[in-house]
Amino acid sequence: MRATIIHAPGDIRVENAPEPKIVAPTDAVIRTAAACVCGSDLWSYRGVLPVTEPQPIGHEYVGIVEEVGSDVTSVEPGQFVIGSFVASDNTCPICQAGYHTSCRHAQWVTGCQAEYVRVPLADGTLVATPEQPTEELIPDLLALSDVMGTGWYAARAAEVKPGSTAVVVGDGAVGLSGVIAAKELGAARIITMSRHESRQKLALEFGATDIVTERGEEGIARVKELTNGIGADSVLECVGTQQSMQQALQSTRPGGNVGFVGMPHDVQIDGLQLFFSHVGLRGGPAPVRAYLPDLIDRVFSGRINPGKVFDLTLPLDEVAEGYKAMDERRAIKTLLRP
Ligand SMILES: [Zn+2]
Repeated sequence: MRATIIHAPGDIRVENAPEPKIVAPTDAVIRTAAACVCGSDLWSYRGVLPVTEPQPIGHEYVGIVEEVGSDVTSVEPGQFVIGSFVASDNTCPICQAGYHTSCRHAQWVTGCQAEYVRVPLADGTLVATPEQPTEELIPDLLALSDVMGTGWYAARAAEVKPGSTAVVVGDGAVGLSGVIAAKELGAARIITMSRHESRQKLALEFGATDIVTERGEEGIARVKELTNGIGADSVLECVGTQQSMQQALQSTRPGGNVGFVGMPHDVQIDGLQLFFSHVGLRGGPAPVRAYLPDLIDRVFSGRINPGKVFDLTLPLDEVAEGYKAMDERRAIKTLLRP
């Protein structure tokens, strides 16, 4: 099969690789209908995360079940399925509590920018759609595999409630999905921090009510101005830098909450400042699996269109251009068709 391999920073290639096989009786193999490039894939692409040897890459996928192991009962060949980037059993106490990415049996899924993918713990990990989706729905469903579920978690972790005010820090695919989530959870005012015109436009389409282009102290001051001088009830931190975390913490009102889903890179939090801020802070890798059934319903009923974050679609063979376009910020997110 054709599969994407990262050889070194900046060196992404599609190569022939052996088709994945069932290894454990709880595995499934799926034929990829679509995959995509994640902002977090760029950390390896840019050399921020080391690449010591050629390795398969990609962790977002939707597809048709090709084969299942002998213990798999909840999905069967021919079904269209979505899974998260972390395989989970969906039965342990941590999964039951809704934190599937910390499942006692969690396994990170990788190598998804390929024609076939082996998914461990298929019963717990994969969710079948109620029917075969139309072509138009595939980008929306693919977004649920990571970015939409991550934006949803950011909004939940920030405790967005009906009538509340939310700020979204970050205008990448996750931040934009966070706008959708805040809207769906009933936020009355959604302030997006963005400097890019095409992303601002999409944020407004997704339900943002205000755009703040300033950053740092000016950005915080602007949010305060828009929130009666006190800050927002909920802030979704979708970047993962020191500046974005500061922006988030200081844009939140006392007693408000920050949900942080941007993977932190060299982020330091001042304990004393956090103590006196009265701000609640919760984050981590999003338990996307917990939200799949609900989000699949919202896609099938036409309530949400998170697939609009894909502004570049390429055949799998052109994956290198997909990375390059995102790295150079020419594309928000690249969808790949095997
Ligand atoms: Zn579990």
